[in-house]
Amino acid sequence: MQFTGKTVLVTGGSAGIGREIALAFAKNGASVAIFGTNEERSQGVVREMESLKIDNAQRFGYYLVDVSKTKEVETTILQLLSAWGQVDILVNNAGITRDNLLMRMSEEDWDLVVDVNLKSIYNTCRILARPMMKARAGKIINITSVIGLTGNAGQVNYSASKAGMIGFTKSLAKELASRGICVNCVAPGYIQTQMTEGLSPQVKNEVLSKVPLSRIGQPSEVAHAVLFLASDQANYITGQVLTVDGGMVM
Ligand code: NDP
Repeated sequence: MQFTGKTVLVTGGSAGIGREIALAFAKNGASVAIFGTNEERSQGVVREMESLKIDNAQRFGYYLVDVSKTKEVETTILQLLSAWGQVDILVNNAGITRDNLLMRMSEEDWDLVVDVNLKSIYNTCRILARPMMKARAGKIINITSVIGLTGNAGQVNYSASKAGMIGFTKSLAKELASRGICVNCVAPGYIQTQMTEGLSPQVKNEVLSKVPLSRIGQPSEVAHAVLFLASDQANYITGQVLTVDGGMVM
């Protein structure tokens, strides 16, 4: 799978799954821009991508932007388009959790999770759909979660935001299909990143007991699915949710 000549934007590319997605595209010839809020980590990922370069025309960069802020995202994407010319592949990966039972969940934690996980994809897609429609080509891949399919006690904000991403994806896939743009979701299960590191050993064991493949997944395993959906091999796939979860949801 070669992405030479393609430009990819990965939100939340500074860590975890997003970092692995950014590196995988870099290894396969793409130019990659990442969005994140942590400068040190973002710079580190750009350095890693530089070391993987296979084509002199490849470029890499980061933009410090909070994906939940509509105006900030608009300004940053317009800067990116004017500097880089185009975005062929958009991966909406940035996401957070603020877990609590509904009875104890603050309005602030509800709003924050919905804004970072769900409003963010409105923010990016609204701006990038137009140039993709003009180009009559493009791939949008939204990183949802198995929790958006199954629900989970203690995660009403997270599961609502992730289920919302799936509805958004299917609607946008229908809106953009006539222009040759494919919009899909990848739904990871239990993946080894900073997000899951903080879970208690008891919760980790409980989750693992529900994984038929009996192990935690690696961020690179999610990246492989994203690269497939972004490739020409997936040109007849749109509006779908591809779970990468060791068989957790079937
Ligand atoms: P991490 O916490 O490791 O990384 C999250 C990334 O999102 C970071 O790069 C962070 O960048 C970025 N981010 C967070 N908030 C913002 C914001 N407001 N604006 C811009 N960037 C932001 O998480 P994972 O890699 O584990 O998760 C990545 C995606 O995968 C998420 O959408 C998550 O919901 C989903 N997922 C993860 C699973 C798992 O088991 N790990 C399972 C299912 C889904 P920075 O630090 O620079 O702000």
